[in-house]
Amino acid sequence: MLVDIDQFYRQLRAVHANDYHLCFYCGCIACQKDYAPPRDHLHSYLSRSLSADFLIVPACKECSVFLKGSQLPLVEQRRQLVQNKLKQKYKQAIHVYLSWSEDEVSEMEGNLLLSISAGVKLGEESFIRSSYIGYDFELDGQRNSKSHFVSPVVSVFGQQFNDLKTAITACSQRYDIYAAQLSEDLAKHDNNLEAVILDIQDQQQQKAYRRELNSQCLRFAKQHKLSRMQVVNAVERYIDKNADLTIPQALQQYYEQRVQYY
Ligand SMILES: [Zn+2]
Repeated sequence: MLVDIDQFYRQLRAVHANDYHLCFYCGCIACQKDYAPPRDHLHSYLSRSLSADFLIVPACKECSVFLKGSQLPLVEQRRQLVQNKLKQKYKQAIHVYLSWSEDEVSEMEGNLLLSISAGVKLGEESFIRSSYIGYDFELDGQRNSKSHFVSPVVSVFGQQFNDLKTAITACSQRYDIYAAQLSEDLAKHDNNLEAVILDIQDQQQQKAYRRELNSQCLRFAKQHKLSRMQVVNAVERYIDKNADLTIPQALQQYYEQRVQYY
């Protein structure tokens, strides 16, 4: 006997007309159904009473492809998977979108304008899809509120921004860091812009310190006919032992304890 497997699922339906036919995962036009958990794994979830949503969810074609083969039983897990795949697939375009401000794009001409605008547009679309949080829906006659997307507020050192792009543009100017670099490093820091800025500032300070170290040691080396590396190594040893020492103080100690006796 054929059992209609769909009877074990409930259909998730949008409450508002604007959301009818939209993919619940990314907000594109839905033309397919996604099953959470997938129908081929329904039995194992039912027989072992494992926690699962047992929902039929409107999904677009691309999300369905992303979800193919996934056994995840909860809608929110499936959304997470889709969003990670969107971020991965459109990484380059999202990077372009986050890196270029409207002002910069408007100053371009010709082919460059065309290609950057296309990248920005695709990036914006992908960025929005990859942070979509669904819509208000109805289940068994009950309404469930899912505050309609978008922009979770981004907070950077206490200042709030409506979205990540605005935050990147503002922080790029304030901290004098390229927007492209801020965007590029986001993945490394779990999308935490504050952590990205701190890390870049730390690297900048280290670079500045190396430059200063090299230049002071070179001057000292020339003066005392030593090799620069020899002086750098010595200074680093002194500073390793006592982190409070400045470079000139370390050089002074090096001079007093060693160089003057050479
Ligand atoms: Zn979708």
